[in-house]
Amino acid sequence: MTTISLVIPCYNEEGNIFEMLKACQQTFSACPAQIEYVFINDGSKDKTFSELQNLYQTYPNEQIKVINFSRNFGKEAAMYAGLQHATGEYTAIIDADLQQDPKYVLEMFNFLETNPDYDMVACYQKERRESALLKSFKRLFYVLMNAISEIEFIANASDFRMMRREVVDAILQLKESHRFSKGIFSWVGFETYYRPYEVKDRQHGQTSWSFRKLFSYALSGFVGFSTAPLKIATLLGASVSGVSFIYLFYTVWRWLVQGNDVPGFTTIVSLILFSSGLQMILIGILGEYLAHTFLQVKERPIYIVRDYLHRDKTLSTNPKN
Ligand code: UDP
Ligand code: MG
Repeated sequence: MTTISLVIPCYNEEGNIFEMLKACQQTFSACPAQIEYVFINDGSKDKTFSELQNLYQTYPNEQIKVINFSRNFGKEAAMYAGLQHATGEYTAIIDADLQQDPKYVLEMFNFLETNPDYDMVACYQKERRESALLKSFKRLFYVLMNAISEIEFIANASDFRMMRREVVDAILQLKESHRFSKGIFSWVGFETYYRPYEVKDRQHGQTSWSFRKLFSYALSGFVGFSTAPLKIATLLGASVSGVSFIYLFYTVWRWLVQGNDVPGFTTIVSLILFSSGLQMILIGILGEYLAHTFLQVKERPIYIVRDYLHRDKTLSTNPKN
C-alpha cells in the first residue's frame, strides 16, 4: 500500500497535538494510503512531549513516530529530522498548529498520483494575514533574494508541501548546518507545482516567529544561497576609489588655480565617517560568511535526539536512532 509520511514539527503545541491527529484521521479516513505520522518535539517548554507520549499510547494502531529533541533546535532542524525518519513514498511537511488544513495534503497526494510529471507540490498563501510592514519586508526579501541568487525563490511558498521519495532523498543529501528550506527546496530542483491555500487561525498557543527571528532567518537565506554580498565589497571599493580619484584631481586643480585656502573640513569629516562606516558594513558581511563557515566546519549534528518512540522494529538497527 502507498504510504504518506506526515512530518509534523512541534514547538509548544500541547493544545494542538490530539486535535491535529484527529483532523488527519478524519481527512484520510477515505484515503486508501497508509499514513505515517512523524512528530518532532523541538524542545518544547510546555507539555508537548507528554502529550505526544500520550498520543503514541492512545493510538497503538496508528503508525506514529515521536522524535524528542534534547533542546530547541529550530523548525529547520525538526523538518530535517522528520524527513530522515519518514519512510513513505510521499512525504508532506505540515505544521502542528492546525493552521494548515490536512485536506490540502490529501489534495496534493491526489495531484501527485495523477500527475507523474510533477515531483513536488508546494502550497503558497494567496493572502497573507500579516501587518503591512511585515508584508513589505517579506516582499523586499523575495525581490533581493531573486536578484542576487542563482536559484529561483517563489514568493510566499511555504514549507507546507508534499514530495516524492526522490525529492526527500535529495534534500537529505544537503547536510548544511544553517538550513534554509525555502532555498533547499528550490536548489534540489525537480518539477514543483505551486498551489494556493488558505491559512487558518492558530487554535492554541502562539506563533514562535518574532521579527528578530525572521530577520536572522532571512539573513541566513542570503548567506546560504548567494555569494553576491561578498562581491559588494569589490564593487563598492572600486566605485568609491573612482569617485575619490576624480575628487583628488579636482582638489589639486583648485589648489593650483586658487591657492591653498584650507577648505573642506566638513568634506573630510564626512568622507572619513562615510568610508569607515562602509568598511564596517563590509567587514560585517564577511563576518556573516565566516560565521557560517565556522559553524559548518565544526560539523556538529543538526539535532540531538533524547527519546525516540516508534513501532517499526526494523528501524532499531539504524545507527541514526
Ligand atoms: N516550530 C518548531 N520549532 C521552532 C518553532 C516552530 O518546530 O523553534 C514549529 C511549530 O510548532 C509549528 C511550525 O513550526 O508547527 C510553524 O511555527 P509557527 O506556527 O510558530 O509559525 P507561523 O505559522 O506563525 O509561521
Ligand atoms: Mg503557525
